[in-house]
Amino acid sequence: CVKGMQATCGSRILANYKAHYDATSVERLKAAGAIIVGKTNMDEFAMGSSNESSAFGTVKNPWDTTRVPGGSSGGSAAAVASGVVRAALGSETGGSVRQPASFCGIAGLKPTYGRISRYGLVAFASSLDNIGIFGQHVPDIAKVLSAIAGRDPLDSTSADVAVPNYAAELTGDINGKRIGIVRDLIGEGLDPDVKNSIEDAIDNLKKIGAVPVDITLPHAKYGIAVYYIIATAEASSNLARFDGVRYGFRSEEADGLRDMYMKTRDEGFGAEVKRRILLGTYVLSSGYYDAYYSKAQKVRALIKQDYTRAFETCDAILTATSPTTAFRIGERLDDPLAMYLSDIFTVSANLAGVPAVSIPSGLASDGMPIGLQLVGNFWGEAEILRIAGAYETAFPLVGRPSLFVG
Ligand code: GLN
Repeated sequence: CVKGMQATCGSRILANYKAHYDATSVERLKAAGAIIVGKTNMDEFAMGSSNESSAFGTVKNPWDTTRVPGGSSGGSAAAVASGVVRAALGSETGGSVRQPASFCGIAGLKPTYGRISRYGLVAFASSLDNIGIFGQHVPDIAKVLSAIAGRDPLDSTSADVAVPNYAAELTGDINGKRIGIVRDLIGEGLDPDVKNSIEDAIDNLKKIGAVPVDITLPHAKYGIAVYYIIATAEASSNLARFDGVRYGFRSEEADGLRDMYMKTRDEGFGAEVKRRILLGTYVLSSGYYDAYYSKAQKVRALIKQDYTRAFETCDAILTATSPTTAFRIGERLDDPLAMYLSDIFTVSANLAGVPAVSIPSGLASDGMPIGLQLVGNFWGEAEILRIAGAYETAFPLVGRPSLFVG
């Protein structure tokens, strides 16, 4: 929310809704001297991986306008990638900053859960939601993070953990840093160009002093299933507030209160949001709660435990950010499962609550950027940003669109 600016969440149900207060992150950015240029397009209520679920049209990828920019915060990614702004905020529930950063050839951070106040961030799935940051380069992210991180009395889940000067932590020295490699995740299902790029990245990291170590994340393969139970359950509850009474759009056609609720929600929400509300309501229903929702919560605990164990032997974990480069507009619209699979490497950091950053690792044969992901331990933003910063300095992405600045 930016005071006085529209806050539509890419949805018809919030068309013309203007925020009447600043989110804490916005207030802190303004206090630090930043200029809020505007709001950007997104998948409706942050549900999507391509920007195609926005009620206001699809953002195009600045590298190739026949392709998606990724999602859900694709508008922010395109604004940074095309050089309109140096940095932008986005929301991160399951990869919505890292995946578009990867598709647009820029840097994107999802911080530790609780690192940045969510006051003024419209809720999708409250136990997974974070504010994330896009930067043209890692130092842009570091500056923004230092300005907005830290405890906020207006968000009880924001943590009272000291905020370092992240820019000062970008020393470039990553000598001896242990980089966890999950061999199972560099194989089947990965586009061959992405696979090669991740293998090159491992060699590159060695060249600048890091030490690869093999680790396992045995429950990572359940990430997508768990995410689409927990995220939809929480969304079905959070989105109950959009009823035509409190905010934005109200159906003109209605006959009585109940009819008004139903018609407003039917006309106001798009297909993907409806699909999620239906799924979420189903997994929370009395007959299925134990089979789906409770079980997903248990597997979520195991996914978190995998990370805690892994960080006993490594300082950061390297994976691809997304199994493919940016796909074409329209290509996955009829196949929600294929769309959901673009988040296979990103959702588990949200389920566990750990921080993760995506930076460019090179270009694929189709000329599109590939992203590599570094996942860190709790509150380890400085560590993963240092490794990411050292990497991008030593191996800068070549071939960025000419409208790039800086
Ligand atoms: N693409 C994922 C989804 O559709 C993640 C979205 C997000 O992080 N907001 O839910």
